[in-house]
Amino acid sequence: MNSNSKSVNSTAIKAVIKRHESLQGAINRLSKQVEKVTDEQLRSGLKVYLHSIQVNIANSQEWTLNRSIPELRLGILGSQKSGKSALVNKYITGSYAPIEKPDGGRYKKEVLVDGQSHLLLIREEAGPPDAQFSSWVDAVILIFSLENEASFQELYQLYSQLTAHRSDIPVIVVGTQDKISSTNPRVIEDQRARQLCIDVRHSLFYETCATYGFNVDRVFSEAAQKIVAQRKQAALQACKSLPNSPSHSGGSTPGSASFPGQASNGPSSGYAYSLPSTPVVGHRELRVAQGEGAGSVSSRSLKSIPRRPSLFKNRDPDKKASDPKADSSSVRGVPIKQSILWKRSGSSLNKEWKKKYVTLSNNGTLSYHSSSSDYTQNTHGKEIDLLRVTVKVPGKRPPRAVAPAGPSPVPPGAVPGINGLSKDLTAGDSNTTVPQLCPATLSVVDDRSGGLSPQGGERGLQRCPSSLSTKAQSVDALEGTASPFSGKDPSQSSPMSDRKKNRRKKSMNQKGDAAAGQAEEEENADFIIVSFTGQTWHFEAQSLEDRDSWVSAIESQILASLQSCESGRNKARRSSQSEAVALQAIRNAKGNSLCVDCEAQNPTWASLNLGALICIECSGIHRNLGTHLSRVRSLDLDDWPGELTQVLAAIGNHMANSIWESFTQGRTKPTPNATREERESWIRAKYELRAFVPPLQPASGTQPAEDSMPVWLLSAVTERDLPRLLLLLAHSTKEQINAQLTGSTPSPPRTALHAACQLGDVVMTQLLIWYGIDVKAKDNQGQTPMMVARKNGSKGCIDILLQHGCPNEASPTAATPILSRRSSTASLGRTSSRKRVS
Ligand SMILES: [Zn+2]
Repeated sequence: MNSNSKSVNSTAIKAVIKRHESLQGAINRLSKQVEKVTDEQLRSGLKVYLHSIQVNIANSQEWTLNRSIPELRLGILGSQKSGKSALVNKYITGSYAPIEKPDGGRYKKEVLVDGQSHLLLIREEAGPPDAQFSSWVDAVILIFSLENEASFQELYQLYSQLTAHRSDIPVIVVGTQDKISSTNPRVIEDQRARQLCIDVRHSLFYETCATYGFNVDRVFSEAAQKIVAQRKQAALQACKSLPNSPSHSGGSTPGSASFPGQASNGPSSGYAYSLPSTPVVGHRELRVAQGEGAGSVSSRSLKSIPRRPSLFKNRDPDKKASDPKADSSSVRGVPIKQSILWKRSGSSLNKEWKKKYVTLSNNGTLSYHSSSSDYTQNTHGKEIDLLRVTVKVPGKRPPRAVAPAGPSPVPPGAVPGINGLSKDLTAGDSNTTVPQLCPATLSVVDDRSGGLSPQGGERGLQRCPSSLSTKAQSVDALEGTASPFSGKDPSQSSPMSDRKKNRRKKSMNQKGDAAAGQAEEEENADFIIVSFTGQTWHFEAQSLEDRDSWVSAIESQILASLQSCESGRNKARRSSQSEAVALQAIRNAKGNSLCVDCEAQNPTWASLNLGALICIECSGIHRNLGTHLSRVRSLDLDDWPGELTQVLAAIGNHMANSIWESFTQGRTKPTPNATREERESWIRAKYELRAFVPPLQPASGTQPAEDSMPVWLLSAVTERDLPRLLLLLAHSTKEQINAQLTGSTPSPPRTALHAACQLGDVVMTQLLIWYGIDVKAKDNQGQTPMMVARKNGSKGCIDILLQHGCPNEASPTAATPILSRRSSTASLGRTSSRKRVS
């Protein structure tokens, strides 16, 4: 420690002592003054406050906290218009308030890093950073608002002031979206934000939305992890156990991690510079992005990431097409289906439809070329990895099976694509440092268009946190904004769709199937492939039959890819793949293509207990309802243990609304463009007031007795009548569910939960527990639901019961469920959907 920092410390220590004495003095004087207050009531009131202050000062952390509890000191810098106060407030209190605190603030919060509790001290500075602040902080979050140019500019100043005092502070850059609206548009584009990140020591970049809690917890959690990582690194270096660590002074090396040695962390550590737990997505996306040729991926980030050789690099002209067979065995898959399709340009500016020669291969890829000769020569092609995509038909969702069935069409061992790729990338990531990185690329707030883009953006961001944030994502986001899955919009028809319609009609008529032709002529033969990052590829086939055959072929390749991954060795990957299948099943449930409340397309959030999918805007309101009414979880960001996906897939928006919206009495639903107030009013009426729930029809026609609910629930479960169970639950309180029968009705021999466990019905078990049924109730033989579940070997039910506090009596073999979590850092919103669902 140099003399300068010594004197800073000494000054700070003296200041602390002085402040302590001054505070004590002030309180003593205040106590004396209070005694002089004549109004007795006022005096005793003031005394209570004063006493509380004294107690809290006496018990402040410096006098009470064990020294082994580590403190993490996080500074917050940003201009008055940056949205920083709202961000901090959301993080601390869980609620949104559009505030800017002119005097800054001091906050404390417990954070878990690597399973250990830390005291996070957050210091929000009102002005520029001074020497004291700079020496105090362990890390700094720099905040600007994406709609405020001045706040962006000021960040550069703040950063240079900070580094004037100290150059080795880790920083995270945050762009806030809260104030973006249609009248107040975003002005800081992705490119500039990314440049800022490069300029400030290759920091991570996040976009946050305090209104919805988007990324809020994540940013603070990342900061805390960064600090811990840095300390560990410092400790290691102090022990000289790290030979020849690269310097991290000032972070002037492009692409260098600020914390050397942290590049190969597992998902649990989630250090800023480590690759994401699902690196394949990032790499594949990046590669595809490059293929799209948007010229958008920073060349620097591309260079530093080892990739497998491109499938589409130009081949030596001499070898051109000389031996296509040898070629396909070395790099290309065997074509399964090929034809000319129309493809809508991925460029955000140019939405033209172009003919492409499209090839579906058995290695889990779909490629497209300008012509068949380009394909043959393997040149100028682009490729989509089917492992991380779904295929959609705009405007409708054809009923298609998603559950893996039958043998994989991909012969094991003959698949250079998937497994080979995964191996390459895994090898790559251990020695890769990812530079800069702006994971977030898009605006979430002003999603009035109801487009795919915001959700897609989040998705891309979260799936790929170390953010090979490519322009491709944002470009596609733009495309998504302009072209969500609204194939019915005439402006989005391909130039040939009218011609095709006529042709189709004609051909139908020729077949004498005029009715079918009539029915279908409104529909375009297009389909869209959507990656989990929100990237989209929009194709149009020559006919509906052709379209359906493409969609079905692609779907079976997606499944084949997933299955071939299943057989892989990477456990995390495997679980994420089966999760992907399960999520697809949820998306395919009836009605799930539209938000259950406002009918926005492609909802990406879920209400677990309602069994419904909701859009991001409605999800914010659901969160405010409280978990007793709606348990919100992100399809894309959260982990999905099996029992949760089963609930979602079993119910779905159609069934949910058959209960919650069956009786609307003329009230109209909000549209995707509804204001927050309109949505909230509807959602509260729907779930809080249960205004649209149909009345219970008692079997006998008599007025239902208050305490009949347990009997009805039991019968709904026994008959496995899920809609009936949902209706009953929608009508009941926790007390009614657990009512003790007092009337003339004889007590049922067991509870509905016993019956659900007896049947091994995971969905009903989970629902009953969410709605508060007593998990420890005994049946007439003295058995708990757990005993019944174990007796019947219902593993799923046992898991759920264990999660909800049922002791695992006398069964050492029953496994405790460990809900895999992608990363504890990505928790969203105040309900902390990442927590075990209880
Ligand atoms: Zn909605």
